[in-house]
Amino acid sequence: MLNREREPLIFERSVPGKVGMDLPPLDVPEARDTRPEHLRRGPFQALPSVSEVEVIRHFTRLSHDNYGVDDGIYPLGSCTMKHNPRLNERVASLPSFAESHPLSDPLDVQGNLAALFTLQEWLKEITGLAAVTLQPSAGASGELTGVMLIRAHHVALGASRRVILIPDSGHGTNPATAAMAGYEVVELPSAPDGTISFEDVVDHAGRTHPGLLSLVQDLGSEIAGAMITNPNTLGVFEHRIQEIADLLHGTGALLYMDGANMNALVGVARPGDFGVDVMHLNLHKTFSTPHGGGGPGAGPVACTAQLAPFLPRPLVTREGERYHLDWDRPQSIGKVHGFFGNFGIALRALTYCLSHGGDGLRAATLRAIVNANYLRKRLEGTYHLPIPSPTLHEVVFNDANLLPAGIHTLDVAKGLIDRGFHPPTIYFPLIIPGALMIEPTESESKAELDAFVAAMEDIAREAKNDPEALHQAPVRASLRRMDETTAARKPVLRWI
Ligand SMILES: *Cc1c(COP(=O)(O)O)cnc(C)c1O
Repeated sequence: MLNREREPLIFERSVPGKVGMDLPPLDVPEARDTRPEHLRRGPFQALPSVSEVEVIRHFTRLSHDNYGVDDGIYPLGSCTMKHNPRLNERVASLPSFAESHPLSDPLDVQGNLAALFTLQEWLKEITGLAAVTLQPSAGASGELTGVMLIRAHHVALGASRRVILIPDSGHGTNPATAAMAGYEVVELPSAPDGTISFEDVVDHAGRTHPGLLSLVQDLGSEIAGAMITNPNTLGVFEHRIQEIADLLHGTGALLYMDGANMNALVGVARPGDFGVDVMHLNLHKTFSTPHGGGGPGAGPVACTAQLAPFLPRPLVTREGERYHLDWDRPQSIGKVHGFFGNFGIALRALTYCLSHGGDGLRAATLRAIVNANYLRKRLEGTYHLPIPSPTLHEVVFNDANLLPAGIHTLDVAKGLIDRGFHPPTIYFPLIIPGALMIEPTESESKAELDAFVAAMEDIAREAKNDPEALHQAPVRASLRRMDETTAARKPVLRWI
């Protein structure tokens, strides 16, 4: 690009005859520029002159500051950051998919509809539920869709129920969803083993928190439903889920399952078989798909036949050899996303399913569980395990062992950055003070897990021998430790 002073571009009015042709004048009255002076464009600013190689080096260096699943283990608990097969990307970028127009006549895009329909069928089989919509664009969007189905169900019965029960270990999106759908949230306390407490719980301050049995008894027909994550955010399977479902159903309430942790269940257990009425899946977690940095996702919702009439429209249906968009759904809650949702994400998930097959998906689940339990076993002597119950695909430690040395969870996370690893999820779930929530997924080899363990052990040693050094971490990253409190309290927002 040449670095030269440029004049503002000016388009002259056409002058008849100037190019030797007898063109009629363009009869436009002189425009009167009424824009205030200070809003008008000034002189053109020349762009800096850089060569292609300089641009490439600039962005390549920036990319080296990044850390992704392609660099190593990315153990963010609850986020399920797994390997994203390149095959998925190839399929999603095939021109016949990528360039098809969302407004095409369904008859012209039968292949697209076949792909969506097939994914719906796979998700029905995986969840054990009767119907699926692929529209919602994320887990939270699926939650809202699902809770709106619950509301539509009660409204259709003429009942007005005001309460949704949510465990205190729930993800923040759960209470936010229930509130957005117009419900009052009532918290379900956790028992010492990390699962939902049926009995009342007395906390350290001597306050009593009614358990599930008291709440169902006291609130009865006020309860619209419960939103439960299974396995929960501690990685513990709610082993009394069927009883919970029966209790809720006994009062006419429904059970919503937050399916973000389905990486622990796919091919092993089906929520529809243990009493769940409606749930979402995070395609961008359980079914691969890159989602670091807020990339696009999808949160399909699966539900029972009883709730199916309320699903968003259109649904993709099949009659004989033909696929259709079924708009004729008078009880539908309406659309929750344009067109079919995030089509490219659905294609990646379908490719993931078809390339693994049912046995492969089950094997991935079992390996994810083995990997998490390997880390748990290797680290349990070094880091404190606040909930000793058996866990599935993730494990939560905390900093209780390290506090006497003045070391907190945040120091451990920063220490991992210096040792070349992405930190796990920290300070969530909220019921575990100083939580370190580790989810390795099935993608990691034993060698990678051992390297992660070695780094965690090294940090624990440094916490004892030289805590001050750990307070300084990270010292090997391009940015040092942020003053997070000041950044949150006094954000300095400016263009650079
Ligand atoms: C990730 C997650 C969600 C929300 O999903 P998004 O796709 O981020 O909206 C909800 N619940 C749990 C347990 C999660 O891990």
